[in-house]
Amino acid sequence: MSLIVQKFGGTSVGTVERIQAVADKVASFREQGHDVVVAVSAMSGETNRLIDLAQRITSQPSAREMDVLVSTGEQVTIALLCIALENKGVPARSYTGSQVKILTDSAHTKARIKHIDNSAIQADLAADKVVVVAGFQGVNEEGDITTLGRGGSDTTAVALAAALNAAECQIYTDVDGVYTTDPRVVEGARRLDKITFEEMLEMASLGSKVLQIRAVEFAGKYSVPLRVLSSFAEGSGTLITFDEGDKSMERPAVSGIAFTRDEAKLTILGVPDVPGVASKVLGPISEGNVEVDVIVQNVAEDGSTDITFTVHRNEAEKAEQILRKTAKEMNAREVIADAHIAKVSIIGVGMRSHAGIAAKMFQTFADNNINIQLITTSEIKISVVIEEKYIELAVRTLHSAFDLDVDDGQK
Ligand code: ASP
Ligand code: MG
Repeated sequence: MSLIVQKFGGTSVGTVERIQAVADKVASFREQGHDVVVAVSAMSGETNRLIDLAQRITSQPSAREMDVLVSTGEQVTIALLCIALENKGVPARSYTGSQVKILTDSAHTKARIKHIDNSAIQADLAADKVVVVAGFQGVNEEGDITTLGRGGSDTTAVALAAALNAAECQIYTDVDGVYTTDPRVVEGARRLDKITFEEMLEMASLGSKVLQIRAVEFAGKYSVPLRVLSSFAEGSGTLITFDEGDKSMERPAVSGIAFTRDEAKLTILGVPDVPGVASKVLGPISEGNVEVDVIVQNVAEDGSTDITFTVHRNEAEKAEQILRKTAKEMNAREVIADAHIAKVSIIGVGMRSHAGIAAKMFQTFADNNINIQLITTSEIKISVVIEEKYIELAVRTLHSAFDLDVDDGQK
C-alpha cells in the first residue's frame, strides 16, 4: 500500500457529473489499497469568472482581496468532491489551504509555499479517510488567504506529495500526457512514456502548458515522482523521471519541441562598448518588473555595440518606453522594436551525446527559407527566434527532421 497524491484540473471537475467520475476514480485507487490525497482546481471557467467580476469594478483590485475572491473556486470543488465520495460510501474530508496550513509568503496572487503542516492529513489517512485539499491556495503568517499564481493547483499537489513523502504525484488533466509538441500544431505529435525532469523543466519554461513551471521546479527540488495523465481516458500517461536511463545510442537526440508566440524583440543600436553597458540597458528593464528572456550582445565594432533582448509581448510597450529613455541618456543610435516574433526550441538530454544537432536544426530552417534572428543554446536545448508567421512551419518541419513523428499505424 502506498500513498498517492492526485490532482484534478478544472476541466476534470467542470461539472457535477465529472466530479462524480473523479470520485469513482479516487474510490477505485482506494479499493486497491492506496492512501489517497486529492488536490483540486476550481471548476473550469470559475477562476476567470471571479477575476472578471472584480475587473468590472476596477482594473486595479487589491491583491489581498483578489486572493479572498479567487480562492472560493477551489473551496466549492473540495466540498462537492467530498460529498460525492461520501455518497459512494467513501469517507472523505475536505481542507482549504489555511485549514491544512499550507503556509506561504505574503506575495498575494503569486505566493510561494514555505511549509506544509501534514499532521491533520496524516491523522485522517490513519483513520482511513480520503483527504481532499483545495489547490492553488495557502495562508500567510498573518492568517490571510494567499494564492499561488494561475495554474497553481499543480504546485499544491506536488508540494503535498513532497510533504507527505508520497510514492507518486499524479496530475490528471484533459490531455493524456506530455507530447513531443503541441498536437494541435503537429498531427503526428506523440505522447512520451517518460521524460526527464530537466527536459520537462525546459518544456514548461519554453512554452509547453501541460504543467505549471513552479510545480516542475518543486518536483525537482524534492525529487517527487510526477505523472501526467488524462482524467477521461485510460492509460499510464507520461512519467517525469530523474533517471536519464541508459546512455546508449538508442536515446533520441531530441525529445520534444516547445514554442511560444508571445514574445517581442527589442534592440538598442550603437551603445558604447565599455564595462557596465549591459547593466545600464537591462537594469531599468528589470527595475520596471519586466522579465527578460533571451539576451544577445553583439561583437563590438568601432568601439560601439548593439544589445538585443526579448520580453513577453504584453510587456513589450512598457519595455520599449524604458529602453527609449535609456537610449536617450546613453546617446544610442537607435531603438528597434518587433512584436511579431516567436521562439521555437528543441529539447533533449540526448543532445549531450549527439553531435550535429544544431547544424541539423539550422539546415531545416534554411530548407524552408525561414530566417533565424537569434539563437541561444544550453546543454540540452537550442532556442531560435524567428518571424511569428513561420512558427507552425518551423515546428512541423523540425518535428519530422528529428524523427519525432508518430510511426505509421501507431496512432
Ligand atoms: N483555479 C486556478 C486557475 O485557474 C488554479 C488552477 O487551476 O490550477 O488558475
Ligand atoms: Mg492547470
